[in-house]
Amino acid sequence: MKKDTKIVHAGRNKKYTGQAVNVPVYHASTILHDSVAQLNDSIKNISNNSMFYGRRGTPTHFAFRDAMVELEGGHGCLVYPCGLAAVNAALMTFLSSGDHLLMVDTTYGPTRNLCNRVLKRMGIETTYYDPLIGAGIKDLIQENTKVIFTESPGSVTMEIQDIPAISKVAHENDIMVMIDNTYGNLINFDPYAHGVDLSIQAATKYIVGHSDAMLGTITTTEKHWKRLYDHSYFMGYTAAPDDINLAMRGIRTIKQRIKQHEESGLKVAKWLKEQDCVDLVLHPAFEDCPGHEIWKRDFNGSNGLFSFTFNTGHDAAITALLDNLKLFRMGFSWGGFESLAMSFYNLKKERDLPLWNNYGPLVRLHVGLEDADDLIDDLAQGIEHYKKAL
Ligand SMILES: *Cc1c(COP(=O)(O)O)cnc(C)c1O
Repeated sequence: MKKDTKIVHAGRNKKYTGQAVNVPVYHASTILHDSVAQLNDSIKNISNNSMFYGRRGTPTHFAFRDAMVELEGGHGCLVYPCGLAAVNAALMTFLSSGDHLLMVDTTYGPTRNLCNRVLKRMGIETTYYDPLIGAGIKDLIQENTKVIFTESPGSVTMEIQDIPAISKVAHENDIMVMIDNTYGNLINFDPYAHGVDLSIQAATKYIVGHSDAMLGTITTTEKHWKRLYDHSYFMGYTAAPDDINLAMRGIRTIKQRIKQHEESGLKVAKWLKEQDCVDLVLHPAFEDCPGHEIWKRDFNGSNGLFSFTFNTGHDAAITALLDNLKLFRMGFSWGGFESLAMSFYNLKKERDLPLWNNYGPLVRLHVGLEDADDLIDDLAQGIEHYKKAL
């Protein structure tokens, strides 16, 4: 079946939906067992989507987890209270004291904090690597390297990683490859076709798609499934049924939303590229985005997220821009229906490698589902304010 068809039907097993189109939202902690025989049966089938106790999940969870496996791949899926909790769960499940982690230098900022402030304290050592390293990652592997963590495109600066090349080297050395596939959502990048062993989604972003819930997911292969399942249960990870319901609803329209985010994103990005004051437009579909050739080979398209840099500028000029934008609002996160703009990233502090020392101020945009020409008009008037403040 084609992706569009799978998206409509994913997770809608009759054993979860009954006669309704959608899976009911179960609000449950205690699950009642009618007899000792039934209780024993539940215990026996515990990892087989049977109801046991709220923390183990209800049909609301089981259906969404099934849908994620159908659409992203892997053998099993678990849910977490937010994307960062999923990153944390993935790393803590497969790393132990004394292990070494290879982390992409352009990872999401809070993931970096987790490595430097928590994993370090647990005796797990992190080395940051260049997102464009590809098969050269081989030279950074140590005896105790257990995980290579990827995120493509890179956070804010949008470098594309050669995931197949990294996966090949990793597997030759019995190392696990993880990806933070949030940019890839369920449409733009197919992680398991490119060799990863585990994929993380901040479902908060495009999967929920409406900026009204926080949720994380991990899918992984059969080889790693039991360890992930057990660890996540021992750590008490679960997510609220209402939030899962919003994510399940988000799935049904994700293809159409991504297509529109992509089309409008490209239109806005092309307009920006023509502006004299703009230096780089860091959009994976543009040739000057680092790793663009790999993006063309491996990705199924782009979405509404990209960055650009000005030739010159200072905080006051960027402030004038952001304060005067009317449709691009200022706020963290992305992937909802609304447009966002953000700046003041401290890339020198957020990177170990000197990748981004030589550029003017950077602005990251999330192009939402507004009319693209209205968004361009908004940027045009905002940039006038930026220029006046220079
Ligand atoms: C937002 C984000 C996260 C964290 O997700 P939350 O749900 O906000 O915790 C992790 N990785 C990436 C790439 C993100 O953009």
